[in-house]
Amino acid sequence: MMTYYKDLDDLVEEAMKCSGVAFEHYATKLEEFVAQVAEEHSERVFLPSSLPPSVQSAFKMGALAWPLALQRAIDAGITNSGKLANILFFMHHPERKGRSISKSEINFQELVDEWKAWRHFAKIQLDFGAVQVKPGASVGGGASSNTTCKVAGKSVTCGDCVIVEKRAHTELPSDTIAIRLELRYNKKNNLKLRPEVEAAWSQLVASARADGISAPYLKVRSAFRSYSRQSRLWRNRLTGIFRKMGCTEPVLSCIFNSADRTNKALKNLGIPHPKSAWIKRFRYELASVNCRPNCPEGGSDSVQKAVSRLAKWTARPGRSKHHSGRAIDVYLGSKNEKGNVSKQRRTEAFRWLVCNAAHFGFSNYIVEPWHWEYTRN
Ligand SMILES: [Zn+2]
Repeated sequence: MMTYYKDLDDLVEEAMKCSGVAFEHYATKLEEFVAQVAEEHSERVFLPSSLPPSVQSAFKMGALAWPLALQRAIDAGITNSGKLANILFFMHHPERKGRSISKSEINFQELVDEWKAWRHFAKIQLDFGAVQVKPGASVGGGASSNTTCKVAGKSVTCGDCVIVEKRAHTELPSDTIAIRLELRYNKKNNLKLRPEVEAAWSQLVASARADGISAPYLKVRSAFRSYSRQSRLWRNRLTGIFRKMGCTEPVLSCIFNSADRTNKALKNLGIPHPKSAWIKRFRYELASVNCRPNCPEGGSDSVQKAVSRLAKWTARPGRSKHHSGRAIDVYLGSKNEKGNVSKQRRTEAFRWLVCNAAHFGFSNYIVEPWHWEYTRN
């Protein structure tokens, strides 16, 4: 908008130097210019000044105040999800100064997708009531606290907060987008999620940051995984387990290759795969090449033992919630492995999630404090 006033001033200045026909020429140009700007403003430009004062003041506080701005906007009677999406979108893009998305922009589609994700989020908030961050969850940084979160069955309790496990559907996403840079634990990892899940996690993190949970806590370490990615992960880890059970070459190689053929054979099976599909096919593939993994530690039961041992921590290909684009593994202060489970449950970041994640549509897979799933449809 600064350009507008500057250009207009220039135009007026030019006009003032002229007289007669030349002045009329400028006067016409000036009228056209004003009309054009007026049209742009009414149709294409987002003006924070048109918002109710209570929303404006939250808007000016920047992205961290988004829950407040959204809540105030809903309270002020704005129930149009497009309008709410504008508030969220432009709050996260102050560099646009309210300029609407134009087809000539290189990242046009990306911006449109982001805007749509905000609208989706606004709709959810309209349905569920605005987000409220529970006080008491705001304890500084990601440091460990003395309040240990307790697990009971499918729920975790941290002080006054409880989260009950809910699992997401596993079907493949129709669409995924790259996770914005500031949410990636490793900036080089081009992680992907469903657009609405990416937007919801971004909003969750902004809210956590405003509450004192500092980066890199809650940054994303793993997100959408394709069937082939999960297949490689599973094959490599499974071979590793057989090795730990004392199996050696050449058996390890035939295990690795049979696992590989199993993954390929099941590739086109609908997702999610039935629970026992993998081991059944694996036994068949092992037998077909006369591969007998009787490891010192597992004996004739080695196959069953190795598969169940791994399945506790790694999903079989075709059964991972990460296939859905709804699952996220986040950073909670240490490597995401079973040895760090209780340590992670003691972090303030985890406690914050237990208190607040459900407001944003996320639920925890209880055995893995780092694994969160978006369970809204
Ligand atoms: Zn996970």
